[in-house]
Amino acid sequence: MNPRQFQGLSLSRAVQLGRSLLPAGPYDSPGLDALILLCHSMNISKEQYYARMQDSLPQAAGELYARALERRISGEPVAYILGFKEFYGLEFRVNPGVLIPRPDTEILVDWVLESHPADSPLVIHDCCSGSGAIAIALAHMRPAWDVSASDISLAAGEVFGVNAAALVPTSPPLWFQSDLLESAAQREMKFHIITANPPYLTPAETRERELEGWKEPMLALDGGEKGLDLIQRLASQAHDLLEPGGWLYIEAADDQADAIEKLLKTLGYADLECKKDLAGMKRISRGRKR
Ligand code: GLN
Repeated sequence: MNPRQFQGLSLSRAVQLGRSLLPAGPYDSPGLDALILLCHSMNISKEQYYARMQDSLPQAAGELYARALERRISGEPVAYILGFKEFYGLEFRVNPGVLIPRPDTEILVDWVLESHPADSPLVIHDCCSGSGAIAIALAHMRPAWDVSASDISLAAGEVFGVNAAALVPTSPPLWFQSDLLESAAQREMKFHIITANPPYLTPAETRERELEGWKEPMLALDGGEKGLDLIQRLASQAHDLLEPGGWLYIEAADDQADAIEKLLKTLGYADLECKKDLAGMKRISRGRKR
């Protein structure tokens, strides 16, 4: 892409031109992406953009904008280009070492917050913590809770540390590396609540994304056989680490909800329930240790 092609254009023309260059598939939002990338290149807010739409694009910003569009055209998600993603009203740092937090996962956070007393000293663990979206949102909203988190990926641990220090500086959740809950078990930890957005894509879905050149880590997506391998192990380990009456919350896909309910029942969990996501798909399952 010729970075000079934006020279002398008004900001609104630059957004229009960017929009016409970006991918426009059924799940893409080229207009919004172009606007966000232009604002990022100029270091201005969307409000400032709307006030200055007729101004002309400075040359240095035009070059940054062209580079950002190129990255988007090559398939990089906007969140990786910006380096952050908003989740639960907080700005999370992200990089290609972690999954980009999804709005659907906010429903898991909502459900936990509305189901348990805010002022009790509850002990919570978020497994497969990635960037820290779930654990850090919970710690931010509930200072009385003792939140910890773990992930098998050290790269994710680094991102988690940056987010915890920035977003909950007075009480950053403890983080440790762990294959699912193995290290938590070795540490003989016990929890009132365990949450997880584990990898749950099926082998076919994983393959499809690899073919598309998906930029997020497959480690965070690949759920093994039927997408349920990790969920099976996790639910079984969680049953050992939960206090009696403690809760497990798991995010998964709609067509996995029935299998998860059966699995949790077999493992001895009670009070099984499922919550739907923003698109009306069964997304979050929970069960209670008797
Ligand atoms: N919902 C995510 C996606 O479809 C999958 C997240 C996961 O495997 N934990 O990209």
